[in-house]
Amino acid sequence: MLRNDYITLMTDPDVIVIGAGAAGLGAARRLAAAGLAVRIVEARARVGGRAWTAHDPSGLPIELGCAWLHSADENELCAVALQSGLTLDKTLPPWRTQIGNIGFPPADQAEFRAALGRLFARLDEAGEAEADQPGDRLLEPGNRWNPLLDATSTYINGVELDQLSVHDFFRYRDTGVNWRITEGYGSLMAAMAADLDIVLDCPVNLIDRTEALVRIATPRGDLRARAVIVTVPTDVLCAGALRFRPVLPGKMEAASMLPLGLADKLYLRLDDAEEFPKDSHLYCALDTTRTGSYHVRPFGRPLIEVYFGGRFARELEEEGEAAFASFAIGQLASLLGGAIRKRLHPIAATAWARDPLARGSYSHARPGHADARAALAAPVDARLFFAGEACSVHDFSTAHGAYRSGLVAADAVIAALEKR
Ligand SMILES: Cc1cc2nc3c(=O)[nH]c(=O)nc-3n(C[C@H](O)[C@H](O)[C@H](O)COP(=O)(O)OP(=O)(O)OC[C@H]3O[C@@H](n4cnc5c(N)ncnc54)[C@H](O)[C@@H]3O)c2cc1C
Repeated sequence: MLRNDYITLMTDPDVIVIGAGAAGLGAARRLAAAGLAVRIVEARARVGGRAWTAHDPSGLPIELGCAWLHSADENELCAVALQSGLTLDKTLPPWRTQIGNIGFPPADQAEFRAALGRLFARLDEAGEAEADQPGDRLLEPGNRWNPLLDATSTYINGVELDQLSVHDFFRYRDTGVNWRITEGYGSLMAAMAADLDIVLDCPVNLIDRTEALVRIATPRGDLRARAVIVTVPTDVLCAGALRFRPVLPGKMEAASMLPLGLADKLYLRLDDAEEFPKDSHLYCALDTTRTGSYHVRPFGRPLIEVYFGGRFARELEEEGEAAFASFAIGQLASLLGGAIRKRLHPIAATAWARDPLARGSYSHARPGHADARAALAAPVDARLFFAGEACSVHDFSTAHGAYRSGLVAADAVIAALEKR
């Protein structure tokens, strides 16, 4: 039941969950299944948070946030999707391939993949060392592939290697199996939200623990509960739009060590798309981090999804939405020839850093601060709980990591309420 009326705020539930993303929905479903009265309070006019499927003018789903079910062979969201009547697509991701080897000869591709493999091996080795360090220290000085390795880091981590904690990266668990939801992640979020009590358009601006019940304040009134789970992104916490009474300096410190990196997407419609293979990929530049990653015909659809990351994505956001399309069409034209220009039509571009309810795409730990994830996730006096992708030690930056963190927080709430 999605609510946006005022009256609903007047009845107090057992538990309030702040945020209707994968973490909040996961937590609320677990709490409701345990028989607790739970209400989600969400600032946006929709559920899903950083899982957001829009539709192109012809009705095709386009993923503006997450798209892949990472570690799909052990990702619980796959089962939730199937139970919800959604379709899993198991086509292999085309990343690190090049249509027809255009502008990227096979020998160079092999060299790049080998350089990436060596970097991952060094990250693994350094991940086990006692001292943490930024990832760029593991680049081979002077290697010609360093810019493209750094660009790859921006797609994976949202940041260049110099901002990446090697320890944090090492803790991430990836089985290497990646699937998608044909109808889009948004359909999964909607299915997960279906039977929940959710108040939309309702930003929480204060959480007050000075009373017997925890009080949350919103522009539409106050609400009280025995426990509250906070799932808002770390940069939103740090921006101070959601305040705590008493203040939580340790929590804010942890959140500030887990900033959101940036990944943005651009969708282009492609005329006469059949010329290109279904689910294929292009690199348009090999010697710079200022480049996009081009997924051509996702699901066989007549679209190109372009992925931008890190500082370059931030620059393009600052230039304005048209900058993404202008840059991408220019890159495609220089690789495929100028005639491609008239076959490409911009549909949508994201600006996740400028979204005040996200302020970025997914979290990374600053070098030396991988343990901040556990500090962020720790409950406060058994009444205030934290979830969200940044709280996950092994699955951060993902939708399933967010979902799992919600389940962990919900179980902690259930245990705490049983003791009272
Ligand atoms: C471009 C992009 C591509 C991605 N690709 C993938 C991918 O392929 N696979 C993958 O697994 N993950 C991917 N991710 C990451 C994934 O989307 C996120 O990790 C996950 O969705 C985060 O869920 P969450 O519940 O932690 O946070 P969110 O989804 O951000 O949910 C938090 C909610 O809190 C709300 N909120 C904020 N402030 C307030 C407030 N004051 N009061 C009330 N509500 C508030 C927000 O509106 C939001 O709905 C991608 C993300 C982006 C942006």
